[in-house]
Amino acid sequence: MTEPLLRVTNLVKRFAVRGGILRRTVAEVHAVSDVSFDLAPGETLGLVGESGCGKSTTGRLILRLIEPTSGQVWFEGQDITRLGHQDMVALRRDMQIIFQDPYASLNPRMTVGSIIGEALIIHGLAKTPRAREDRVVELLETVGLNADHMRRFPHEFSGGQRQRIGIARALAVSPKLVVCDEPVSALDVSIQAQVVNLLEDLQEKFGLTFLFIAHDLSVVEHISDRVAVMYMGRIVELASARDLYTTPLHPYTQALLSAVPIPDPTLRRERIRLQGDVPSPLDPPSGCHFHTRCPIANAGICRTEKPALREVRPGHRAACHLA
Ligand code: SF4
Repeated sequence: MTEPLLRVTNLVKRFAVRGGILRRTVAEVHAVSDVSFDLAPGETLGLVGESGCGKSTTGRLILRLIEPTSGQVWFEGQDITRLGHQDMVALRRDMQIIFQDPYASLNPRMTVGSIIGEALIIHGLAKTPRAREDRVVELLETVGLNADHMRRFPHEFSGGQRQRIGIARALAVSPKLVVCDEPVSALDVSIQAQVVNLLEDLQEKFGLTFLFIAHDLSVVEHISDRVAVMYMGRIVELASARDLYTTPLHPYTQALLSAVPIPDPTLRRERIRLQGDVPSPLDPPSGCHFHTRCPIANAGICRTEKPALREVRPGHRAACHLA
């Protein structure tokens, strides 16, 4: 079996909530709880869940943009949670991120050429200004823009074009892993498919590995090899994209999938409407965190025992007592 490029083991992130004059910790938010998965070279893992479920925090923990409370992140066999600042700066060449909001993630005072060229300078990847400029033009063309765009500012571009600039910036350092943090959520539906297709093409061309974060299962369906569904900081289901979309095992995944439109008008899928809102992460429900909204929860084990993420079928894991 291929060695994973990325291995995440028992990742935990708790954020302290402070209060009072002395700013003491009065509570903790369990943002990410016991998250584990592998990512093979060249693979795309879709990470899906509602807003606040911990998926973006997981992406940032992997890149160490925030520090985990506990757990490990292994990249090419090395536990990067133990690396010092300098080693991490060097490693960032291999691990890049594309942010959700192409409007906020590009410095409005910098030209596109400077934005993309900055990483080349930081990592010493272009020895002369001419070499840097050539590389920036190459990157712009790779993402469907052109050399004329280099001297313009971000506000002169549409949302889709700005996201292409963000992608070019991430590609500048020839990374191995790219965390795509809701890269199309802020874009018009008509533009979303173009950006997803571009990412697929780039993955094939450069052999990239993607962690593709989205709040909508329909966005990740075609790009993902496997999909992990998160609820309240935990992975509740993890399977190949085909298994997850055809035979979802967890009631939460089934509810999310029931909201995804089917292109064939002759087919109908019964909509499962979840009751209530996602509970507060400050005070998560006992037992299975999903029991307050689960349409098939029972009053016994679901309320008292936390279900483990176990392999229900080969390669298909679910955290549900009744799966
Ligand atoms: Fe629903 Fe119980 Fe399964 Fe949780 S363990 S998803 S509450 S059936």
